[in-house]
Amino acid sequence: MFESGPRIFALFGNPVGHSLSPLMHNTAYCEMQINASYVPFCVRNLEEAVRGIRGLGIKGVSVTIPFKSEVGKHLDGLEESSDRIGAVNTIVNEGGRLRGYNTDWIGFVRDLKEFMPVQGKTFGVLGAGGAARAILFGVLSEGGNPVVLNRTAAKGEALAKEFGCSFLPLSEIGVLKADCIVNTASVGMAPQKENSPLEERALGKFPCVVDIIYNPLETKLLKDARKAGCRTRSGLGMFVHQGAEQIRLWTGTEPPVETMRRVVRERLEENARN
Ligand code: NAP
Repeated sequence: MFESGPRIFALFGNPVGHSLSPLMHNTAYCEMQINASYVPFCVRNLEEAVRGIRGLGIKGVSVTIPFKSEVGKHLDGLEESSDRIGAVNTIVNEGGRLRGYNTDWIGFVRDLKEFMPVQGKTFGVLGAGGAARAILFGVLSEGGNPVVLNRTAAKGEALAKEFGCSFLPLSEIGVLKADCIVNTASVGMAPQKENSPLEERALGKFPCVVDIIYNPLETKLLKDARKAGCRTRSGLGMFVHQGAEQIRLWTGTEPPVETMRRVVRERLEENARN
């Protein structure tokens, strides 16, 4: 049977209206001269949406909030890291068999290694939600030493135990010696730009602070950290690298990472001005 028309890739989430993934992916396919279209779907019924991947011959899907931990059970198999993290952000349609991957941890590690060495360094990972799981997996896989910091002790302790690392209540951050703090909580994300999970006075002793939020590009946490003399990194690079890895999985071709970074950055700067 002949295939005609563009290859279709999709985003499944709810909501998806503000996602920058369509802009980033479609710009990449255009530059790569791949006849493909990346379409956002606001999913109401996940199981039926997954069935639609097979029915419509969609080649690959990005999965976002609130479906990352739920979607795995509807797939035919999981790649090892997504199984361990307990979240799927990427589906690959391998000839009708749907396989779940996690590229968030890869995106995080690629960007982190551009920013600082990881091996043997200590990372205070703030939060104990789905994103924290990907960050812990990434830090551990690169030989780093993560310490979970969480407001609710029981949740943080359970996560640290699962990943075989240590735990400290967030309120005791004063005693932590770490090379870097990584914020994985969504506190400070637009539109709540004035919020931060940490007080400014807690930051100065850490050489580096990473916030995996990318909207805004500089969160209040990063602003405070910069003022306190820390080196800072936003979630933009993680976002771009997790998308780039999806493109590699779906097309087997190297994506234009710098173009992807530029279009997302420009759109975020434009949004911040308006
Ligand atoms: P989440 O559900 O918002 O995070 C939950 C954790 O944040 C919980 O452990 C919670 O602590 C903690 N938390 C919430 N409010 C807090 C506060 N005021 N002070 C201290 N801790 C607080 O986050 P998620 O779903 O894991 O991750 C979502 C975030 O990751 C979003 O910001 C998203 O944009 C970002 N992300 C970025 C990328 C990227 O490519 N850059 C990729 C994936 C995700 P308790 O346990 O005490 O409630």
